[in-house]
Amino acid sequence: MKISRRRKVHRYLSFFCNNYGFRQPYQVLLDGTFCYAALQNKFNIREQTPKYLDGDVKLLTTQCAIQETANLGHNVHGALVIIKQFATHRCSHNDKPVPGSVCLESMLGVSNPNRYIIATQDKELQAAARRIPGTPLLYLHQKAPTLEQPSAASSRMARINSNEKFAVSKIDKDTLNDLKEKKFGVTKPEQETKKKRKRGGPNPLSCKKKKKSAMKKETVTANKKTRKRLKVPKHVKEHWASVVKDQLRT
Ligand SMILES: [Zn+2]
Repeated sequence: MKISRRRKVHRYLSFFCNNYGFRQPYQVLLDGTFCYAALQNKFNIREQTPKYLDGDVKLLTTQCAIQETANLGHNVHGALVIIKQFATHRCSHNDKPVPGSVCLESMLGVSNPNRYIIATQDKELQAAARRIPGTPLLYLHQKAPTLEQPSAASSRMARINSNEKFAVSKIDKDTLNDLKEKKFGVTKPEQETKKKRKRGGPNPLSCKKKKKSAMKKETVTANKKTRKRLKVPKHVKEHWASVVKDQLRT
């Protein structure tokens, strides 16, 4: 297998592991159409599927899928022999078997909680699997097994779930605000606490250099302005005023 194909499979499986909790051994749920195509193309399901998925695999089917293959008669006898080799997972059609595609779709439910990888050549079942989020799809493209890239439904649901995971809920926000209040006192709404930008002076790089004499004058006036006045206490002022008055009388 080419490295690029191997990487693709790894990337797709990682998507399902990270977003939908898939783990090894991967449960591959297959039907008669997949077994028939495998026989036609000399694809050994038991040997080559784990190699392709690069991991441990459980190959599974249902009684309905076996029954459907048996009903097709001698033409698909080889496929029947193959599908009978695999373990069967119990479906809900014990009394009245249904077509394999209907049965496998019912095994997926609305969200594929048992984390099956669906292996089928049936176009309708493939379409149904693409509609159910978290359902990897495996089929044979002639001899080559192909794990399809995650469907739009799978990607959309994964995105929604991850957004929910990282979003701060309203309750969390309220508790955060409470904690802030306790720690730092009353909190102001964000807009009020924003600092206003001070107006800066002219850009010094775009101004002409000032002449020296002008600069000197400026520094002198600046010094004058900054000179501190001595504050005379009130009682001292009153004392001096009375002294002056006394001297004027004399
Ligand atoms: Zn069934």
